[in-house]
Amino acid sequence: MYSIVMDLGEKISILAGAAKFDASCASSGSTGRGAAFGLAKPAGVCHSWTEDGRCVSLLKVLFSNTCRFDCAYCVNRASADIKRTSFTVDELVELTLQFYRRNYIEGLFLSSGIFADPDMVMEKLIETAKKLRTEAGYGGYIHLKIIPGTGEKLIRRAGLYADRLSANIELPTDRSLQTLAPQKSGKVILGAMEEVAGAGAQFEEDRRRIRFLPRGKTSAPVFAPAGQSTQIIVGASPEDDRQIISLSGALYRKFSLRRVYYSAFVPVGAPVRGGVSDPRLPDIPGPPLVREHRLYQADWLLRFYHFSPDEILDQSTPFLDPHLDPKTAWALKNLDQFPLELNAADYEALLRVPGIGAKSARRILEVRRSRSLSFDGLRRLGVVLKRARYFITLAGSFLDRPDDPRRIRRILSDSDGAGLQIPLFEF
Ligand code: SF4
Repeated sequence: MYSIVMDLGEKISILAGAAKFDASCASSGSTGRGAAFGLAKPAGVCHSWTEDGRCVSLLKVLFSNTCRFDCAYCVNRASADIKRTSFTVDELVELTLQFYRRNYIEGLFLSSGIFADPDMVMEKLIETAKKLRTEAGYGGYIHLKIIPGTGEKLIRRAGLYADRLSANIELPTDRSLQTLAPQKSGKVILGAMEEVAGAGAQFEEDRRRIRFLPRGKTSAPVFAPAGQSTQIIVGASPEDDRQIISLSGALYRKFSLRRVYYSAFVPVGAPVRGGVSDPRLPDIPGPPLVREHRLYQADWLLRFYHFSPDEILDQSTPFLDPHLDPKTAWALKNLDQFPLELNAADYEALLRVPGIGAKSARRILEVRRSRSLSFDGLRRLGVVLKRARYFITLAGSFLDRPDDPRRIRRILSDSDGAGLQIPLFEF
């Protein structure tokens, strides 16, 4: 149903609501989980976290919620009976600018339903970003979604105005994509990621080369300096955690992705026309948030603790333990590698101890150069002794012996899935 006259406030409310299911900017709605900031924010403003854990506010909206595609898991799918609307480029530029000038936001996350040919939709997103950058004096962050099916040239142009680009892989296998999002193609999505990675590397190379050119030729354009990310929906299709983590590992390796975001499948409210739910979707009571949380922790192991996907999960254990963080689960499965003598262990071995993160591992190495370590001192270095105590020795002394994995598991289990936030902490 299309509205001919709709005020901007109503458009924002519709197009911000329609964007909230995209997790690929690590954001939370201002009234959603993780949003304990106590500030009343205008519609569409949500919180997001930077690589270094800083919280930023983003205007997260769709250009349009009209879509030709019919992805079963999406509230904006063509068959959903919802109110449709679109911004104009000028409306969106003005809105972003107003929010930015009033300090409501530090950035814009812009995606869109596919209301026309993918290139035409992408053109609108690029035009918005370009106008903000080159005409409106906007200096904030911009994250643009790559519309599935966009051509190479436009992907390259998008990276000239956006800080970050993302093409959502959505589902872990092509088979599930064909079932739930038949108009999408894994090959096309991976092709877009490859294009972004290739363009990023090429622009970086150009910038390096230009440094050696004579004066006056000293600038080369920057391409999406915050890199690319993607989103995988968890629980809408039958794949296990092992398949998801293997896919993430491959995406990080092949396309230098900065982040893979995991989005627990939300049984979408709007029924297809006629009031019937989509039979292709699982009948679950609510989003699998604990599973999403454990996947984020496993992802942390891939990115910061140098684990390979096969070490985290194998054929005999295809799902992450809902009650135990994946690093502790790994340590309990590999007790022959513990206890670790902290006075002698190298950085890689330290990283594998539950309760020792990258920062505390570096501090241990630093302190070890000038003085001996003590259990009390470890606390001051950021080691979480509650977890680490079963896995370490100092000059041969134990705090607790790793002799009974079932007892350690009982003590270190969290019954509630602990936290349910994207991890920004070391574990
Ligand atoms: S392409 Fe699919 S996921 Fe994207 S807006 Fe359209 S229906 Fe939703």
